[in-house]
Amino acid sequence: RIVYVNGAYVPEEEAKVSVFDRGFLFADGVYEVTSVLEGRLLDFEGHMRRLRRSLAELDMAAPASDEELLEIHRELVRRNGVEEGLVYLQVTRGAADRDFVYPAGVAPTLVMFTQEKQIVESPAAERGIRVISIPDERWGRRDIKTVQLLYPSMGKMMAKAAGADDAWMVEEGFVTEGTSNNAYIVKGGRIITRHLGNEILHGITRAAVLRLAREAQMEVEERPFTIEEAQGADEAFITSATTFVQPVVAIDDVEIGGGRPGPIARRLREIYVEEARRNAV
Ligand code: PMP
Repeated sequence: RIVYVNGAYVPEEEAKVSVFDRGFLFADGVYEVTSVLEGRLLDFEGHMRRLRRSLAELDMAAPASDEELLEIHRELVRRNGVEEGLVYLQVTRGAADRDFVYPAGVAPTLVMFTQEKQIVESPAAERGIRVISIPDERWGRRDIKTVQLLYPSMGKMMAKAAGADDAWMVEEGFVTEGTSNNAYIVKGGRIITRHLGNEILHGITRAAVLRLAREAQMEVEERPFTIEEAQGADEAFITSATTFVQPVVAIDDVEIGGGRPGPIARRLREIYVEEARRNAV
């Protein structure tokens, strides 16, 4: 596999990043994951807009222009022959002597690689996933897409230990989001998902799905909800770039919609895939 590191396309075995890189020492870095369908990129502009925002919030320099980043994405997809999967992009503040204070005049590190993944044909989307609830113990700026993913990783392990697929995180009694996705419920035909703020990542798939839902005359309500409300909902689902829309069929072992994927989640997934195929670049 060919990866990209600071201006060079190299075989993964030859790729090198300094042990003093602040991404490694401080998790001082941000990332994006853009899906690939039929060899083309989904919602590339949205991902780049969010990347700029993450960088700006951390006073971090942008490693390249959007045009250059698009070219690197395309070149990696081409070189690795990716039809369906993802491109991972990570920017860190760069390498410097270890010091909590941001170093001045250091070039950012840009690393990118591809991963093949079957996204459209998904057993999890067919059968639906089971989630558990866990306390949200992440830091307070979840709107910045940083590489500090240890708590979400612990959450996935807690889910696995409980025989579930994933976890929904709860703060002050309300669901924030999934460990690597946004969370939704459906009640009486109305789609409910937490409003944007520092408490959750502003999902690019979330924005697309809510827009498509409104265009299809579905009602959308952006507000917090509890696990109890979710357990009594008609449907539940998640969204993310690499899962699209996936139904949730149980929360803490309480089955939703009779334990089967619901019609609205199914419909949203179809609409999303149709539009993704149309608009990929
Ligand atoms: N929330 C969290 C915590 C995530 O990690 C992700 C995916 N990276 C999402 C939501 C979904 O965001 P997107 O739709 O942009 O993939």
